[in-house]
Amino acid sequence: MSDAGDVAAGLRTHLQWLDKFGVTGVPRGPRRTSTSTSTGTGTSTGTGTGTGTGTGTGPGAESLGLVRLEAVRSELGDCTRCKLSGGRKTIVFGVGDPDAKLVFVGEAPGFHEDEQGEPFVGDAGALLTKMIVAMGRTRESVYICNIIKCRPPGNRNPEPDELAACEPFLRQQLGAIRPRAIVALGKFAAQALLRTEASISTLRGHFHEYQGIPLMPTYHPAYLLRTPTAKRMVWDDLQLVMKHLADLGV
Ligand code: SF4
Repeated sequence: MSDAGDVAAGLRTHLQWLDKFGVTGVPRGPRRTSTSTSTGTGTSTGTGTGTGTGTGTGPGAESLGLVRLEAVRSELGDCTRCKLSGGRKTIVFGVGDPDAKLVFVGEAPGFHEDEQGEPFVGDAGALLTKMIVAMGRTRESVYICNIIKCRPPGNRNPEPDELAACEPFLRQQLGAIRPRAIVALGKFAAQALLRTEASISTLRGHFHEYQGIPLMPTYHPAYLLRTPTAKRMVWDDLQLVMKHLADLGV
């Protein structure tokens, strides 16, 4: 196939994914980029002794990110630092490339995630995968995790003491991976990471900053399943992330 044919085929595939993701029409260009600063703090306590990295597929043993992530997972251990440990089946640590340039952060594991030990499975996970593919990436090339690593009973929102106990490990995870951008999925993740009570509709659409890393809040895939019309706004947000990464050449 000619170069022009390759380009056309690639564009067709991209548009097909956008269509599957539920975004119609020609994507618009990025709108604006601004920054604000988070003030995340917290301390890690305890010395868990659990096993497993929870890092899914990724580079080999030479990966610094993998080595650093395994250290974080080792410190987390068979964690009982908060009351969620009593009802969980699995600690859902995270999955993906330990050296990923892009990390997606959600709220907490649900039933299926607790069963399978992987974040974002089920319908919302499938939609997230489509979003990632629409960005021209693969689920394996990014890293996906949650702020809280154990399932809250009845899928209730995590409580402040649980967040305080678990969020330091997310901070360490992100410090291990050192991504070039973070996408916070949903109100809880965005508010928790940015230490704000601002609405997701206010936060989305422009970059903030978490530990020196550009962070884009956007709607949670589960919300998109209930409100498909919001997909256009999410696509706008993801385009800003794509442009940011492209500008960095990663
Ligand atoms: S939610 Fe986090 S802090 Fe609480 S028990 Fe699970 S891993 Fe530990």
